[in-house]
Parts: sequence; structure tokens; C-alpha cells
Amino acid sequence: MSIPNKTDVIIVGSGPTGLSLACQLIRYGIDFVVIDKNLGITPYSKALGVHARTLEIYEQLDLAKQALERGTIAGKVRLLEGGEIIGEVDLSNIGAGLSAFPFMLVLEQSENERLLYQYLVAHGRKVFWQTELESLSQDAAGVTANVKNNEGESQTIAGKYLVGCDGPRSPVRRTLGLSFEGSTFERLFYVADVRIDWKFSQDALHVCLSRNAVVAFFPMPGQQRWRIVGAFPEGHDKEEGEVLYEEIEARIKEEAELELDITRVDWFSTYKVHVRHVENFSSGRCFLAGDSAHIHTPAGGQGMNTGIQDAYNLAWKLALVLKGAAADRILDTYNEERLPNAKRLLQTTDRMFNLAAGTDWLLNVIRTTVFPPMAKFILSFDAIKKRFFPLISQIGITYRGSSLSEHDGDEDFAVKAGDRMPYFLLDGKSVYDRLREPKFHLLTFSDSERDYQPQTEIVAAVPIDSHVIPLSPHVAEVFGVDRSFNLLLRPDNYIAFISSDISPARLATYLKEIKRA
Ligand SMILES: Cc1cc2nc3c(=O)[nH]c(=O)nc-3n(C[C@H](O)[C@H](O)[C@H](O)COP(=O)(O)OP(=O)(O)OC[C@H]3O[C@@H](n4cnc5c(N)ncnc54)[C@H](O)[C@@H]3O)c2cc1C
Repeated sequence: MSIPNKTDVIIVGSGPTGLSLACQLIRYGIDFVVIDKNLGITPYSKALGVHARTLEIYEQLDLAKQALERGTIAGKVRLLEGGEIIGEVDLSNIGAGLSAFPFMLVLEQSENERLLYQYLVAHGRKVFWQTELESLSQDAAGVTANVKNNEGESQTIAGKYLVGCDGPRSPVRRTLGLSFEGSTFERLFYVADVRIDWKFSQDALHVCLSRNAVVAFFPMPGQQRWRIVGAFPEGHDKEEGEVLYEEIEARIKEEAELELDITRVDWFSTYKVHVRHVENFSSGRCFLAGDSAHIHTPAGGQGMNTGIQDAYNLAWKLALVLKGAAADRILDTYNEERLPNAKRLLQTTDRMFNLAAGTDWLLNVIRTTVFPPMAKFILSFDAIKKRFFPLISQIGITYRGSSLSEHDGDEDFAVKAGDRMPYFLLDGKSVYDRLREPKFHLLTFSDSERDYQPQTEIVAAVPIDSHVIPLSPHVAEVFGVDRSFNLLLRPDNYIAFISSDISPARLATYLKEIKRA
């Protein structure tokens, strides 16, 4: 099949971000062309952690079950010093009550890409592999991408919009002239996927702490499979790509102080950690998503998950605009919502990373002496779990400051406009089971049928589902009110407004505002 020369959305790059965007556009019935210069999905493991928010998104694509079958749930963290266990923390159910997926799933990036790619193919779509973006131009009506196809021929694709999901070196970002400010850590890091013969079980992440180094062993799906991550000391004179695996293995053994036999090496790589983000996620009709817009330290395994969420945030907005159900300016809220998130992410991952890998003497003492015996105790507190899990799992990301979050009437609620829909059970099933359709959802929480007013005619132009949900004591506790209320959810399951005003006018005003040019 040759590359179409006309489409709605041109997606450049078919990593986890580009594939996610394509899958979301399929849900909305939007036409797209996705190209990638590579031969196929990545053969490398790269990102390992899949967080709760990503699994919630996968569930809407009906992929969560397969992801769970292919991966393993991160069970425990064991802290080791001098080869001995000095602390252990159970993580397997750390987000209980906060998500249908109260854990982190270990599933390598190549498998995530495979899942998304299979979804795309199952829906009759394809990626144009070995097709490279060479240049692009745009005007008020659209974007033209000049590409070289898999036979080396040049071709143009005209699109209404273009999204650069083309990774950290992003040709799209460079062409748009968007700056990518930030810094680079001095130290060189290494990552190795190996098989290990040793005394430790695969139900835990093992972190070896010593005065000047941290070496982490992440269990991977498959027998004796582990990902080892560590860093060379400051002043090490070799650059990325110059280090041989033997040098890494010697360092691992010395720093981990463990008896272990590395029986096979599947992949290894060295890299410098960069912390950078763009100042704007878009320019005209072109957008950036994923690593093309932000890169940060690997702490907390946030990279791949963040790209998937960028795509999720942008897809529904593009879909509404392309269908004429929303004005163009709704697209500005993509940058409005995702840029502050990227900035926050860089700060938190930076802090976590410094704590884990910093060389400051005080940090060394905290890491090796103070933290290990206290870790289990600290994380046994519900209040701490409720702060820690939303941060790591990305379910705590909020768009309260967005112009799409209408705060009138949310003052008395524990949950505000701009927050992700809280998770709770209805008749023993997740509320998210009712929210899979790619539409707005109007939820009327009511202790009486009288409050239910079907509101379909006002909103004919915007796809919307209405639900009536009994106001049980548990639901009242989650939202912090015990009287009937309306909640409008955006198609990405973020709250547009929440209010005790259950009149049809409230909904009509919100949706009219979205359409207003
Ligand atoms: C060694 C390593 C370990 C990592 N570990 C973790 C981790 O533990 N946790 C985590 O969350 N993240 C981790 N990451 C980061 C994670 O891999 C990225 O955040 C993720 O890949 C970003 O996805 P993306 O789709 O935005 O970009 P990418 O995966 O980089 O995909 C970009 C795609 O664009 C294509 N492309 C580029 N230029 C062009 C062009 N001109 N024309 C056509 N196609 C083009 C590329 O071929 C590529 O397929 C790791 C990365 C590396 C390298």
C-alpha cells in the first residue's frame, strides 16, 4: 500500500507516543498517516514500568488484560548493603482503593509497542516503516510533510495537523525552531538486560546501596531476567558508546558487593541523562508529544508513560476540532495542560534521581543509613501511600489550572474540576468500566430518580453519554458531599465541572463555550 498523500493527522514517529496517538485516533474515527524511519517496533527493552494511569488508558483500548498477562506486577523493593538485606518494602498493592491497577506493572517498552501496534493492525491500519520525514511546511490551512519512503523516493503528505512523536532529537521540533532548554548530568549511566544466577528471588526490585554508588536490579518477565542500572563515578573519562560490557560487569560486581553470576547479556547501553523541555508544545498546526517535548532522568520510570498521556490528552481535542464539535482554540489547552505537567515531572524526577544517585555526603548518609530501616515503616502509613502512589502512578496529575476546568460550584467538593475521575466501585465493578466510550460523560449522582434529566437534545453536536449513579455513602465520601450533583467528564476522564447545580443550562453553557471560536 502506498502512502496516502492526504490525511487529517500526520504522525511522525512510531514509538510508544506515536502508536498511542494512532490508537486513540482510531477510537475517534479520525484519519491519520503514521511514518517511522525504523524497520519496525523497537527490539530493545528500554522503559520497563507501566503505571496505573497508562493501564487505565490501555483498558479503554481493551489492552490492559493483555498487558497484565505479558508483564509482572512489581512486588517488593529490597534494599541491600554489603550483600545483606537491610530493608524491604511491599509495593504490590500500594495504591489499593485509588485505581483498578494499584501497582506498577513491569512490561518492557518493546512489548508495550507490540500491544499498541497489534491494536492498530487489528483495526486495519498500518505504520509506514522506513519512511523518514525530511522537511515540513505549514500555513493557515494545513501542513505539508516531505518524506522519503522505503524505496528512497521523495513524496509529500498533506495533513490538517502534524504531531512530532519523533523522540529526543526530534526533527519536527528543530524544524519548528522550538527551543529545548535544560541540562545534562555529568555522570555516565549504564543499563544492561541480563540473566543472573544468584540467591535472590525475582519477586523484588533489589537496590544495592553503598557510599558512592547505587546499583539497581529490576526483575523482568522471564526466568532469571534482570535489568541492571547504575552509574560510573564522576570524572570517568569515557563517553556514550565507548564503554565495553566487560567494564560494566566488573563495576556491577564491585559496587553491588554480591555473589552473582551473569550468565547471559541480552542488551546493554550507556547513556547521559538529560533534563530538558520545550517552552511550547505546539507551533501553528504542528504539535510535539513524548520525548520530543520533554526528557528527564529515569527515576520513577515516567518517560514512556508521560508520552502515552500526552497523546491521550491531544487525541480527543484534535478529534473534536476535526469533527467541528469544538473551536480550534481548544487545541491551545494541550500546551496549557501538558507543559506545566512536564515542568513538574522534570523537578520531581530530578529530586528522586539526586536522592538515589547524588554524590553529596549527606545524601550518602541518608541513603545508606537513615532511609533503609525506616522505609517500610514510612510506607506503612496510609496518608503517605496516598501521596506517593498518585505521584508515581501519574493518577495524581491534575489540570485544575486549565481553561477547560470550570470551577464554579466545585468549592464544597473534595474533588475539583481538572482532577482525574476518582476510582470507586459500583455494584462491585470499577466506575471506569462505564467510561470507556470516547465521549463526554455526564454523571448525575443522585439519591433520587427525580434529579435525572436526560440532556441529549442540547448537546447533539458533541458526543455525550449520560449516567445516573446512586449517591451511596462511599461515593459521598469520595466526593466530599452528600447531596445530588452533576459531574461532566471530558473524553479523557478528567473533570470539566462538578456542581450541585444539576440544571441542563450548566451543561449547555459549557459545551457552547467549547464550540465558541
Ligand atoms: C536505555 C534507555 C532506558 C530507558 N529506561 C526507561 C525507563 O525505565 N522508564 C521510562 O519510562 N522510560 C525509559 N526510557 C525512556 C523511554 O524509552 C522514552 O521515554 C520513550 O521511548 C519515549 O517514547 P517516544 O515515542 O516519545 O519516543 P521514541 O521512543 O524515541 O520514538 C521516536 C520515534 O521517532 C522516529 N523518528 C525519529 N526521527 C524520525 C524522522 N525524521 N522520520 C520518521 N521517524 C522518525 C524514531 O525512529 C522512533 O521510532 C529509556 C530510554 C532508553 C534509551
